Amino acid sequence: MADERSSGAVVFYKEGAAEPEYLLLHYTAGHWDFPKGNIEAGENEKQAATREIREETGITDVEFIDGFRMTITYRYRHGRRLVEKEVVLFLGRTHTRQVTISHEHIGFAWKNYEDAMQQLTYRNAKNLLSAARDFMQQRSLAYR
Ligand code: ATP
Repeated sequence: MADERSSGAVVFYKEGAAEPEYLLLHYTAGHWDFPKGNIEAGENEKQAATREIREETGITDVEFIDGFRMTITYRYRHGRRLVEKEVVLFLGRTHTRQVTISHEHIGFAWKNYEDAMQQLTYRNAKNLLSAARDFMQQRSLAYR
């Protein structure tokens, strides 16, 4: 059982035939990752992801793509404590390109797949983006 559970999404923006762009956030700790945050009591995973995306980016129109739900797990040190963390990630489409970040982050970027793979800090996040893209390509008709 994880000490912390967060929920978030690979948020993409795509207009017409253009390639999708993925939303990445620059965390104050230094890493680049997807929007996500702690699941609060009484919330389900998608509610938490929706709230976190809204709080962290100002985006309110994310539509989750059915059938994609993945988790990544990692451990980090918080003082003397080793924290086991699980992050659930969905795949979500937005039609909003304007982003307003909160004080929790120091920057954001919309990136195409190759650039997002470069920018993401952690291997498990890169693997997740790769899985999200495979999933979208398999269902490409739905995203024209
Ligand atoms: P949340 O956005 O869930 O509220 P947070 O901003 O409190 O989280 P994390 O993004 O989980 O914190 O970062 C906590 C620590 O874990 C940082 O030191 C970060 O570098 C590290 N970390 C974050 N993501 C990963 C990962 N995918 N793999 C390994 N370490 C990670």
